[in-house]
Amino acid sequence: MTEHYDVIVIGSGAGGGTLTHALAPTGKKVLLLERGGWYPREKENWSSMSVWGDLRYRNAGRWVDQHGKEFNPKQHYYVGGNTKVYGAVLFRMRERDFHDVYHVDGVSPAWPLTYGDFEPWYEKAERLYHVHGERGVDPLDPPDADDPADLAAHSLDFWLTTEDLPLPSNRVEVERGGRIKLTYEPTNLEAHERLVAKFRGFLDPIQCTQMVIDRSTYLGGRLGISGVAHQNGTVRFGTDPSSSALDVTCRMHDVDNLYVVDSSFFCSSSAVNPTLTIIANALRVADHVTTRL
Ligand SMILES: Cc1cc2nc3c(=O)[nH]c(=O)nc-3n(C[C@H](O)[C@H](O)[C@H](O)COP(=O)(O)OP(=O)(O)OC[C@H]3O[C@@H](n4cnc5c(N)ncnc54)[C@H](O)[C@@H]3O)c2cc1C
Repeated sequence: MTEHYDVIVIGSGAGGGTLTHALAPTGKKVLLLERGGWYPREKENWSSMSVWGDLRYRNAGRWVDQHGKEFNPKQHYYVGGNTKVYGAVLFRMRERDFHDVYHVDGVSPAWPLTYGDFEPWYEKAERLYHVHGERGVDPLDPPDADDPADLAAHSLDFWLTTEDLPLPSNRVEVERGGRIKLTYEPTNLEAHERLVAKFRGFLDPIQCTQMVIDRSTYLGGRLGISGVAHQNGTVRFGTDPSSSALDVTCRMHDVDNLYVVDSSFFCSSSAVNPTLTIIANALRVADHVTTRL
């Protein structure tokens, strides 16, 4: 390659796309590389059977688990990345998620930065992605048991999430030949069962309990290991190079000009969807990179 670029961004999802957007006004020469093509616009976009039944848009090939069993991962290589198909649920992590959180199975480790460090970037991220909702009302609150009539009038899907702890043995490897291997053991199941039991308790008064779908089923299929949509933590940030690959600006400890802005930098997964934190962090890192250009 003979052309010169000031910045090369690999991947056009929430991380890379947001970083590129934030660096564009610098006037520097930015190249965005994306392995996937354009997401097709077609009538099947609107068909639940095509999207969830036939998995028409999953195109990351076959991955393999620790037992050698192949699966079709919930991954999408397109311009826009998984962010092209995601649910657009954009939550901030809670203040406590940035500290050690103690669970039955172990500790969800603290991040090297606090909620306060991320707050201004969350604010910008929410504005950029037009996040809306009522401030001050916890969106994870269980349904209002005082108003069963309102609840019963609607069919509702609920997605209950609890935190997965970062086990060193849960990892991603690239096999000879390039196939991706995932080793994954679920953690924190006791907390999950308690949450499900509590949730079912809220639904009891409206005789809705039998409608709660078990955690391992998703529209009749198994979620299991292929539900990798919220993966994170493979290239953690931190102050200590012996336990992290990135410094707090998300730059590789040992490489002066290599930054990582997808969810790999997470130290823990928290129990909320990751993308708003990915976006906020990409804006934070873009601000830092801009000062260096
Ligand atoms: C069905 C679904 C629903 C979801 N719903 C939500 C939700 O409601 N809320 C939420 O917060 N999160 C949700 N997620 C998760 C969310 O989509 C991801 O957290 C987010 O997209 C990750 O952004 P990213 O930039 O890190 O990676 P991605 O969006 O995955 O983008 C990475 C990009 O890099 C490209 N790429 C990879 N390797 C290379 C290479 N070697 N060279 C060039 N390009 C490469 C890929 O093709 C891809 O386009 C959902 C995910 C799925 C699949």
